[in-house]
Amino acid sequence: MTTHALWSTPSVDWVIKISRYCNLRCHYCYEFEHLGEKARMSLADIEKMFRHIALHYRNSGKVMNFVWHGGEPLLIEADYYRQIARLQQQIFVCAGIEYRNSLQTNLTTLTQTTLGLINGFFHGMSVSIDFFGDHRVSRAGRPIEDLVKRNMARLKQEGIRFGCISVLSRSNVEHVEDIYRYVAEHGYSLRLLPIYRKAFSGQQDQLALSAEEIVTAFTRVADLWLSSDRVLRVRPLEDYLTHVVRKLTLGTQGHAVYDKRMDEVVYIVGTDGSLYSIADAYFEPLCHGNLFTTSLQEMQSGAVYARVVAQARERMHKTCQHCEFHGPCSGFIMGEATEEERYVDADEQLRCGIARPMHEYLERRLLASGVFSAPVQAAAHVR
Ligand code: SF4
Repeated sequence: MTTHALWSTPSVDWVIKISRYCNLRCHYCYEFEHLGEKARMSLADIEKMFRHIALHYRNSGKVMNFVWHGGEPLLIEADYYRQIARLQQQIFVCAGIEYRNSLQTNLTTLTQTTLGLINGFFHGMSVSIDFFGDHRVSRAGRPIEDLVKRNMARLKQEGIRFGCISVLSRSNVEHVEDIYRYVAEHGYSLRLLPIYRKAFSGQQDQLALSAEEIVTAFTRVADLWLSSDRVLRVRPLEDYLTHVVRKLTLGTQGHAVYDKRMDEVVYIVGTDGSLYSIADAYFEPLCHGNLFTTSLQEMQSGAVYARVVAQARERMHKTCQHCEFHGPCSGFIMGEATEEERYVDADEQLRCGIARPMHEYLERRLLASGVFSAPVQAAAHVR
């Protein structure tokens, strides 16, 4: 019988859509139809949101990670973030809650003021850049990647650490090795993010890759990464590798598996305060409620939240239950799979299309290296 420990996460990520307004018009952006909207969260609403979060997580010992997202969050003036910092100080410090702020940016608007903001308010940042393809463009349709590369070099010069997020699509998949080599040479970390959400039907038809194409691209990068003597963070490969090492060293029993009802890991807060799980963002029937007006406790005792939890559990039940990596891999990946990530097999059965084959591949690589030996329970399982 499989035994699992109780799920509890040390931190909670809040993806805050402070505004959907953006100076770019990247073709695959899932906010595409709203990028011209200048509406932003008001400070009064941000204060209410913080108070609801503080009320819920008081005495939890958890760290709140606020990821300021858009649109382009650096189009909001620095003084606005200073006022947000004051609110955080008042609300979270008083409640004894630790917090951090990070930034997801297109890095096209780097000035002395934004540099000051990056240094003063944000504890970490990710820069969106695809390196190849022409889908990241200005409002006028002009490619912006050379400008972003120059701005990344400036950040590096200033000693500011950051990671790169590359949307993996049909346009750059042939160049994954070159992308890896570029970030390795410059010492940036990398997250390869296959297209996982759309703004409208048909938007990603020419761009999105199949699960098999993504796995092939990931294995090509893994081969370079594993044979390199540089220390470089590459996600999601390092997550998969952690799970495999856990399995080979600790076995499959006694790990904490993902349980949304016990503890959510990531929330998305829309500009209007609507709260979603990462799997269901912007799908109104599964909106938990409004975080500007409603407490988390009230939302989580409602029927919609019960449905959201049931659907996540069902996805895990269908895919993780018979997976030999379940336990070392918490199942979060399938629990929070977006609609685009819910791959099905020829019989229309839900399958874990990327993480599971990647775990299998990395396990084979590690076993072949001789560093690890096959665990006892894996041998019993095969028999
Ligand atoms: S099915 Fe996928 S998400 Fe679930 S445990 Fe296996 S690898 Fe992890």
